[in-house]
Amino acid sequence: MNIPRTSFIFWAAVKGRLLTKDRLVKMGYVIDTACFLCGTEQKSHKHLFYDCCFSEQCIHLLQQRLQITFPAPELSSWFSKHHGVSKLQKKLICAGQVAVVYAIWKARNKARVDQVVTHPAALVNQVLKDVLSRFWSRNTGNLSRKESAWLAKIV
Ligand SMILES: [Zn+2]
Repeated sequence: MNIPRTSFIFWAAVKGRLLTKDRLVKMGYVIDTACFLCGTEQKSHKHLFYDCCFSEQCIHLLQQRLQITFPAPELSSWFSKHHGVSKLQKKLICAGQVAVVYAIWKARNKARVDQVVTHPAALVNQVLKDVLSRFWSRNTGNLSRKESAWLAKIV
């Protein structure tokens, strides 16, 4: 389930290393600091993944579809604990979390270049479609009844 590019973007997001507008301003570039996705003032790197209403909707929709609540808003704690889920469910949840961060970053870049903002529901649909298609292409084991019911609700 691990994809190097998505994992790298997730790591960079956790560390605040993505080249967002606030970092460009710190580097001396004078630019409009409005968020490409929501249009509000972007005051810090954390806006993109913590304060942006676009990202908030994407993360909320992902949680609904995965039928979980992320342990804390901080990206670094997303993998800490998911109670009552199987190893396979945890693997898919983690893959979804990493993929949604990457998709938000890609949506932000698309909005910057094309001035088109992806709808959060479309973004989450694509994330889950990609994660599940990778899962089905690699999964050869049997699913428990609980896992099957859980997967049926995601789709
Ligand atoms: Zn925003």
